[in-house]
Amino acid sequence: MIKQKLVLRFPPALVEQPVIYHLVKDYDLMVNILRADINPKKEGRLMLELSGSEANFRQALDWLQEQGLRVMNLKQQITWVEERCTHCGACSVICPSGALALTRPEMKVSFDASKCVICELCLRACPARAMETLLDEVK
Ligand code: SF4
Ligand code: SF4
Repeated sequence: MIKQKLVLRFPPALVEQPVIYHLVKDYDLMVNILRADINPKKEGRLMLELSGSEANFRQALDWLQEQGLRVMNLKQQITWVEERCTHCGACSVICPSGALALTRPEMKVSFDASKCVICELCLRACPARAMETLLDEVK
């Protein structure tokens, strides 16, 4: 049994492919969608968590790459660079999961990566660029 978070990037021609359907039906994987969006260039990005047998998972990765998708690992996706943080609190206001939270009365921000749902709102909100994203392409 394997459980792994991935980012799939779709070129514009593949955005409408029923990828989730195939992952469930053909590879018997459980799919938990964390985030999906399409950028202005019509490229799609899907963040998801897959779980199932390791053999099926590996076959599904091969199939995704054969379709022309880029597949990246999402382990430790969002990191907080504490030394850059000014504890302004801008991220804690918009963080939907409570991963970034302001403690009172100290008024210090803390980051709990286990609560992060990788929405990336904090990347845009942080004026100090203290939040970073790490992606690791699956071979
Ligand atoms: S990526 Fe989203 S959930 Fe994670 S810390 Fe940033 S705002 Fe919070
Ligand atoms: S927005 Fe950036 S600088 Fe402000 S508290 Fe959050 S991580 Fe720190």
